[in-house]
Amino acid sequence: MVSLTFFGGVNEIGGNKILLKDRKTKIWLDFGMSFSTSAEFYSDFLGPKKCNGIGDYIELGLVPDIRGLYREDYLKKMGRGKEEREFDGILLSHAHLDHNGHLDLVRPDIPLYCSQGSKCIMEMVDATSGGEFLREKVSFCFVPKKRGEGLKRLDSREPEGIVERVVKVVEKPFKVGDLEVTPMPVDHSLPGAMAFAIETSEGTVVYSGDFRFHGLNEKKTREFVEKSAEFEPAAFICEGTRIDSNKTETERDVYNTVTKFCKDCEALIIANYPLRDTDRMTTFLNAAKDHDRRLVVNLKQAFLLDAFEKAGQEAPKLEDVSVYIPRKSWGLVTEDVHPDLVHGDYETWECGFIDSDNSITCEELRKNQSEYLWHCDFFELKELIDVKPMKASKYVWSVTEPFDVVMELDEQIVMNWLAHFNITEITRSHVSGHANGQDLKETIDAIRPKKLFAVHTEHPEMFENVEVVEKGKECEVG
Ligand SMILES: [Zn+2]
Ligand SMILES: [Zn+2]
Repeated sequence: MVSLTFFGGVNEIGGNKILLKDRKTKIWLDFGMSFSTSAEFYSDFLGPKKCNGIGDYIELGLVPDIRGLYREDYLKKMGRGKEEREFDGILLSHAHLDHNGHLDLVRPDIPLYCSQGSKCIMEMVDATSGGEFLREKVSFCFVPKKRGEGLKRLDSREPEGIVERVVKVVEKPFKVGDLEVTPMPVDHSLPGAMAFAIETSEGTVVYSGDFRFHGLNEKKTREFVEKSAEFEPAAFICEGTRIDSNKTETERDVYNTVTKFCKDCEALIIANYPLRDTDRMTTFLNAAKDHDRRLVVNLKQAFLLDAFEKAGQEAPKLEDVSVYIPRKSWGLVTEDVHPDLVHGDYETWECGFIDSDNSITCEELRKNQSEYLWHCDFFELKELIDVKPMKASKYVWSVTEPFDVVMELDEQIVMNWLAHFNITEITRSHVSGHANGQDLKETIDAIRPKKLFAVHTEHPEMFENVEVVEKGKECEVG
C-alpha cells in the first residue's frame, strides 16, 4: 500500500509535515513549523526548553512522536535509547519556516533534497542567525579537556562539535529508495521553490509546495502544471492558502505602485519588504533605477545575494546595490579608527561587507537622502535615529497586512516611528506568494488527479472532490 500521513498543514496555513510510504521507502515532504500551534503555547520570549530535547515539541503536538527521525543528541538527553534511521529522505519544497522550520530537530543523516536556492537561504540563516538547518551543533556532549584532567562541554567551534547535514541539491529527476522523483520549480515569494512528482508503485503523487502564477516567474508554475498533468497523477497534494480569495494583483502591480510613489521625492524612500524575497527586491531595484536611486539592502540580504551569485542563481547582483552597515556595539564604523578596530563591533561574516566599495553608513544615507531607496524592516527602525530621514521622506509598506494582534501592535510601532519623524507619505503595496481561488481551481482541473488532498489551508472544504484529511491518520493513495 502507498500511503500519505499528514502530520501538519491540516486545516492550517503551513506546518507541512507529510509522510509518504511505499513498500520499504519512507520519505517526508517538508518538515515545517506550525505557526498556529506554536502560537497557542509560545510567544517571542517563551519557547521550548532546549534541555528537554524534542520533549516539549512532542508534548505540545508540534512534531510527531516517531522513531528513527530525530537527532541523537536530543534523544539521548531525553533518556531514549539509540534509534536506527527509519527514513530515506526529506523533499524540501522551499525554505520558508512553515516548511523547513523543524529540520533542526531531524537527524542529519536523513538526506535532504532541495533546490540550490533553498540551500543558499538555509546557509544564510545558519551563518547569520545561528540556525542549524544544514549544520547540527552537537549538544549535551562532554569531551576530555585538552589540558589537564576532567571533562568539558563539546563546543561547536571544534570540528567534532558539528555534524553536516546530508544535502542533495536536485534539479533533474532523482531516486530516493524505490521512488523516482521529479523536481519542478514553481513561482513563489521565495527563490528556489519547487514542487515534486513522486512516482510510486500505485501511481504518481504530485506535491505542490507553495505556488502562485502572479510573480515574476509565472512560466515556471505553468510548466509545473503541464508536467504534472503528463504524469496523470494518482494523487495531488495541493496548497490552498488563498482558496477563499480572488484578488488578482501581480508583482508587476507592486512595481507600478512603487515606481509611481517614488516619483518627485526629494528625500529618502524607505521600504519594508520581505528580507529573502529576491523577486520583491528586484521590484524595488527596478523602481530605484527608474528614479536614479541606489537600492540599499541590509547585511543579511547582502549575504544572500553573495551566496546566490556564487551559486549561479538568479537574483539582483551585489554590485548593483549598496549595503547598509549599521553602527553596532561601540559604533566605530562612523569613526576615524583602524578597520581592525571597527571589525570588533561585528560578527565575522559581516566584516567582508564592511570593507567593500558599495557599503554605506548612516552618514552617507543622511547626507544624500534623495539618492537612495533604503530597505528598513521592523527590526531596523532604530536606525532611523542615526539616518534622520527628512520630513519629505516616503515609506512603502510591502509586506503582508497584519492578521493577528501581535502584528497589529507591531504595525502601530511602525506608525509611531514614522510619525516621530513626520513621515506622512505612506503607501501599501504587496502581493501574496500564493495562487488565488480561481488559479487553484484551474490548476487542479488541468492536472486532473484521481485523488486530491488540500493542505496549507484553513478551508479544505472549499475544494471540490477533496479527500478528508485528519492530522496523523494514514490515507491511501491508490
Ligand atoms: Zn507555506
Ligand atoms: Zn512559502
